Amino acid sequence: MKEKQVANLPFRGLGGVHNFNAGPSVLPKEVFEEASRAILDFNDTGLSILEIGHRTNLFEPVMAEARALVKELMQSDDDHEVLFLHGGATTQFMQVPMNLLNENELASYTDTGTWAVKAIKEAKLFGHVEIAGSTKEDNYTSIPKNLLVSPTAVYLHITTNETIAGTQWKKMPYDCGVPLIADMSSDILSRVLDFNKFDLIYAGAQKNMGAAGVNLVVVNKNILGKVTRSIPTILDYRNHIKESSMLNTPPVFAVYVAMLTLRWLKKQGGVAAIEKINNAKAALLYKTIDSLPVFKGVVAKEDRSNMNAVFIMEDPGLEKEFSDLCKREGMIGVKGHRSVGGFRVSLYNALKLESVEALTDLMKDFANKKG
Ligand SMILES: *Cc1c(COP(=O)(O)O)cnc(C)c1O
Repeated sequence: MKEKQVANLPFRGLGGVHNFNAGPSVLPKEVFEEASRAILDFNDTGLSILEIGHRTNLFEPVMAEARALVKELMQSDDDHEVLFLHGGATTQFMQVPMNLLNENELASYTDTGTWAVKAIKEAKLFGHVEIAGSTKEDNYTSIPKNLLVSPTAVYLHITTNETIAGTQWKKMPYDCGVPLIADMSSDILSRVLDFNKFDLIYAGAQKNMGAAGVNLVVVNKNILGKVTRSIPTILDYRNHIKESSMLNTPPVFAVYVAMLTLRWLKKQGGVAAIEKINNAKAALLYKTIDSLPVFKGVVAKEDRSNMNAVFIMEDPGLEKEFSDLCKREGMIGVKGHRSVGGFRVSLYNALKLESVEALTDLMKDFANKKG
């Protein structure tokens, strides 16, 4: 069935469609081109990136550059270590408490939606969990404003961007009084933050910084080594730090794609420059939603995500027609998560302003015909 949909589209070539997918998602065209070349011939070696050893003078510089670029883009201090690990952000849901939370201790979590709930579930396997703030009652359409964090908590965990609900923390709880940990999977490096104020940041690469198969962890090494349980070798952050993120075979190609994407981000002017573009994209889309009576935003305005915009239609009977129109026009991924319905449009770093302009023009045309 999927194949049929693709076959019905006019051929547009790489980059010729507008990709609003939520993840895995759009990456810069330059990254696809260079990664493709590296599969055929990596750095003029006559070898594919897929057939080289990771402990070689071919791959080690890739890992080193990827780690250095993260440090540079985040302006990390010397206490923060950058790791590229396997297992996706979902593995971090358990790896974080396994490394930081003793069985008799308390961790504080914010309950902001699907992803936060999954993180909370895993933490409960390792110790006690309190909920510092929740927006479950309003169906996760906002971000909690007043947190209650126990001073004895070993950390506070937040999900900076709830990819499914379409909410985003605008003001970070830097002053929560305990180490701050963030799942930044869907807004990593999309806006300027005081990254050093986080003691641990993790993110699956496939939303905003690369291909699936690798996740980024930026950890303040001073918070490690305090739990009494035995940690399996592969899950102990300290072992990865000691081995410069090469404890075992890393996902070589995914790390390479992340490195290329980080290089691209630096070339755009870094996080501050991309934030400006991200703000412009989100402002245009939300302005369009708010100004057209057929569309309706669902998230509290001050908490709207700049990465994932969620909206519905005043008349749900029109949703299929709009959805079909988007598909015909090569607008990929304009659809709500199966658990929420309506529409979700993802605006990650690599999505161009032109794509948002094309979509908002389509929305205006549609609204005019219906209005
Ligand atoms: C996608 C996502 C995850 C899960 O990532 P995986 O890499 O699939 O494990 C976790 N948290 C957030 C906020 C996400 O958007």
